[in-house]
Amino acid sequence: KALAELVVGHVVDVPDFPHAGILFKDITPLFADGPAFRQVVDGVVDHHGRSSFDVVAGVEARGFLLAGAIGYATGAGVLAVRKAGKLPREVLAASYELEYGQATLELHRDAIEPGQRVLVVDDVLATGGTAEATLALIERAGGIVTGFSVLIELAFLNGRDRLAQRDVHALLTV
Ligand code: 5GP
Repeated sequence: KALAELVVGHVVDVPDFPHAGILFKDITPLFADGPAFRQVVDGVVDHHGRSSFDVVAGVEARGFLLAGAIGYATGAGVLAVRKAGKLPREVLAASYELEYGQATLELHRDAIEPGQRVLVVDDVLATGGTAEATLALIERAGGIVTGFSVLIELAFLNGRDRLAQRDVHALLTV
């Protein structure tokens, strides 16, 4: 609860971004507040337990900030799940539908050792397309997803329904 309030206090609702009719949750103030950022990073790690994962994967781009901090705080390695065309070597790719058009995420084919346990983090869970694609990529690369955390879950978009059987952890659900 304290963490949920901390997130609430550091989020700015931005109407009509990036499209008319979307109320965007801007979480940059949370990252910019050092003590608050540290608390949310520690909160995510405490929820899962440090011994539950070997590496932490972040989704481009705000997920990178979280994953980098968690990796440093715990000594775990960090994996970058990137938008199409950014990674230099052979990749696995997963595409998903957006409201308008398609998006593709990529991961280096050899990024994960077989059986490695992966904690996946992102800032916001909305429709769940990003998360679904990310978890599929990690498993196709040979990893085991042992946790998935977001700072904010937009429950009215039902992202959780696309992640059936997954343990979805959100610091704040709205
Ligand atoms: P989904 O694929 O679940 O519809 O969208 C989640 C992805 O889009 C996440 O990677 C997240 O960063 C971004 N996203 C969608 N809506 C928002 C929002 O309101 N605020 C922020 N910060 N990111 C969002």
